[in-house]
Amino acid sequence: MSYELPQAGEIDRACCAALDTADPLAMWREAFVLPEGVAYLDGMSLGALPKAASQCVANVVDQQWGQGLVRSWNTAHWIDAPRRLGAKIAPLLGVHSDDVVVADSTSVNLFKLLVAALQLRPDRQVIVTESNNFPTDIYVARGVERLRGDAELKLVSPGKLDESLDSSVAVVLLTHVDFKSSQMHDMAAVTRRAHDCGALVLWDLSHSAGAFPLDLRGCSVDLAVGCSYKYLNGGPGAPAYVFVAPQLQGELDQPITAWMGHANPFDFSVDYAPAKDISRFLSGTPSIVGLAALEASLDIWTQVDLSVVRAKSVALSEFFIWIVERQLDSTAVQLASPRDAKQRGSHIAFQHPQGFAVIQALIERNVIGDFREPDLIRFGFAPLYMSFADVWRAATMLVEVIETRSWDQPRFRRRTTVT
Ligand SMILES: *Cc1c(COP(=O)(O)O)cnc(C)c1O
Repeated sequence: MSYELPQAGEIDRACCAALDTADPLAMWREAFVLPEGVAYLDGMSLGALPKAASQCVANVVDQQWGQGLVRSWNTAHWIDAPRRLGAKIAPLLGVHSDDVVVADSTSVNLFKLLVAALQLRPDRQVIVTESNNFPTDIYVARGVERLRGDAELKLVSPGKLDESLDSSVAVVLLTHVDFKSSQMHDMAAVTRRAHDCGALVLWDLSHSAGAFPLDLRGCSVDLAVGCSYKYLNGGPGAPAYVFVAPQLQGELDQPITAWMGHANPFDFSVDYAPAKDISRFLSGTPSIVGLAALEASLDIWTQVDLSVVRAKSVALSEFFIWIVERQLDSTAVQLASPRDAKQRGSHIAFQHPQGFAVIQALIERNVIGDFREPDLIRFGFAPLYMSFADVWRAATMLVEVIETRSWDQPRFRRRTTVT
């Protein structure tokens, strides 16, 4: 599938309309709630609401909870939801349906897998990650280091990973797509190098799943986690997912040994016996209302071809860059993401010294992106619900806000808690 972009000199509003007409994913926009007049370029932070999610949540609350009461654990299959949803996420990761389970948050799952990975490599004590990793990943690894006493977290500069790989490394923890720059790691190559030195690899896929096809099995990945409220559109704080390679599932001891991870939770036995399969990575009772919203979204994902999603994501982002760079020179904004689309995830970042105010001015104009410290403005491309017309409007508005300095107002400098 290719999205044929026009020559740079011919870009105008009419060519967006032509691209939207030819877009094989255009029909999916109808499956989402999008406020009238808003160009939404923040799907890498919070995905849009699938229309079906409202109905699913209402049904779970009113019917299954309201009428079914406790019977719904069986009759509405609540108890199977973590595995059932895991199986729906599995194809997005390129793994078998039995190897993924939905549980807790990404942060909690990182903790479980890091502790388990250290226990599986008792003669090694080092966790390696990059200093530019998403902070929660670093904070959780620090917490594990403190808790274990003998563990050591090594933070390496981006690009310096190879130098840190030696026989002391138990686990390499990396985020596949950088949340700021959008730089993508070569999953196959990094996993191979980590394995060559005897380490396990734990990938955080928060900015990858739902943005492009993944092949965890082909890359022999050991462990992965990710959140489902970004490109997967599961809703604010939606439950996260855990992947464990099948040959490791029976061996890994995760530390939050709670009843949902027990082989037979309803035996109510005093002794803990972990489930032999991916269920052992569950801990407490799952959030059924949250799972309902996520399942509505996953039922869309099971119908789309991720290679088409990727092709459109590349086209949307290239289009955005073209429009901005044609009209603004590098003294105004600078691309802070790889120029080669093959090395990017599904968002791009530009540097602007007043980035926060620029984003606030855009939001006032119904163009929603976001800001990341110290000076990055980020724009995400969620191909299921974004159009080329959205990109045209967002990019031309960005150019206008910068050219006219309309960001330069006191109200755009007022900080909110969440950026
Ligand atoms: C968004 C994101 C998270 C979020 O973790 P939570 O536990 O859901 O808050 C974790 N890691 C990365 C790389 C992310 O981008």
